[in-house]
Amino acid sequence: MVIKLAFLRRIKNHANHQYLPEMSQNAKSAPMNNVVSKKIGIVSLGCPKALVDSERIITKLRAEGYEISPDYQGADAVLVNTCGFLDSARAESLDAIGEAIRENGKVIVTGCLGAEPDVIMAEHPKVLAITGPQQYENVMAAIHDALPPQHEPFQDLVPESGIRLTPRHYAYLKISEGCDNRCSFCIIPFLRGDLVSRPANAVIAEAQNLVRAGVKELLVVSQDTSAYGRDIKYATSSFKGQEYRAKFYDLAVALGELGVWVRMHYVYPYPHVDEVIPLMAEGKILPYLDIPFQHASPNVLKRMVRPANIEKQAERIKKWRAICPDLCIRSSFIVGFPGETEEDFKQLIDFVYEAKIDRIGVFKYENVVHAKSREFEDQIPQEIIDDRWNRLMEVAQEVSAERLATKIGREIDVIVDEIDEEGTIIARTIWDAPEVDGNIFIDPIDGVKVGDVFKVKVEDASEYDLFGSKI
Ligand code: SF4
Repeated sequence: MVIKLAFLRRIKNHANHQYLPEMSQNAKSAPMNNVVSKKIGIVSLGCPKALVDSERIITKLRAEGYEISPDYQGADAVLVNTCGFLDSARAESLDAIGEAIRENGKVIVTGCLGAEPDVIMAEHPKVLAITGPQQYENVMAAIHDALPPQHEPFQDLVPESGIRLTPRHYAYLKISEGCDNRCSFCIIPFLRGDLVSRPANAVIAEAQNLVRAGVKELLVVSQDTSAYGRDIKYATSSFKGQEYRAKFYDLAVALGELGVWVRMHYVYPYPHVDEVIPLMAEGKILPYLDIPFQHASPNVLKRMVRPANIEKQAERIKKWRAICPDLCIRSSFIVGFPGETEEDFKQLIDFVYEAKIDRIGVFKYENVVHAKSREFEDQIPQEIIDDRWNRLMEVAQEVSAERLATKIGREIDVIVDEIDEEGTIIARTIWDAPEVDGNIFIDPIDGVKVGDVFKVKVEDASEYDLFGSKI
């Protein structure tokens, strides 16, 4: 294996090396505006995969307005992308880190040797942060922490809060990708792989940027929100001098401090979900849980490879509501799963009544390519699937209407999504997520704008929506 030295070290030690001349030209481009950009020095060692990692990091740095310094002295911090493949490469990496600390002082380490932080810290305890190979987000988070990016609104093509496709007042906050579960009907793990959580400091940094940009509601999403951080051993990372742990509860606490609505979606019913209910009762995060139970019959759940103790789930929901009476549960269910009997289906209906599931999405089972359940016997005829879908939708409507009727007379916070041509204000309550849940309709009021949050007295309810007036 060849040890390659990228331009900072190359310029210093290997001036005639043909390595990466274009990249150094691009990377060293002059500042585009009057803002004094922060400069990062890059030392890149190792194989072509590590080189690609360095290129990606440099691309990201340039896109965020950082400059790349050709020497240690001009750099505000130095990033060392290490190699750990052979003993000689590890020694070279440790040597490069030592040199960067001596010459500059502010050093962030990434790459293969970064997977062994103890080895690095034993020799170089002054290193600011260490991340493993291909952990671009962690690297960027460490750089943001050491050198906060300078945002120039008149020059930068990308706003500080990123490019969003949602209205200005709410935003989806994606905390992880992939899923470790293997539900037999689902091909998400096949398509997106196992759980990969974002570091907590990257999530918090994004959330703070969004709030600064005017977002009033954060919708936390992933494939499996309550598993957040399991793959990275719930690692702690720092942002603006504060430590954040990559764990569902800790994330809820941290987001709850931002002073905006925080709504939790796609929560798999692990036991530790109980911990966030008191935060909802205290008003730190919205009293809203989107838990896709998928079914309620233990037989069907077993074949779905989902938690099968549904009686326990109904009991848990009762306990949650005893702690947080305002809790709204949204769930989705699949009807017509292979082998689902009429008895199984009735258990599902009983569960929806008993657990008083406020909002329900009902899906007709489909034999998706690559899903395990495609091979299952006892596939259900389409007309039975359609019939069960209609019956469950009727139950969903009935339960929703009952739950909403209990809100009449309440004074609640709403957020404005839209004002129609007649001036009617179309808003959502704390119990309604955008796109999937209902609305509250309020008669026209002068001066009210999209994104405003205010108190409303609920005066009437239909199957899915509320009607009220501003207090
Ligand atoms: S249904 Fe959800 S929890 Fe199950 S494998 Fe798919 S993404 Fe994961």
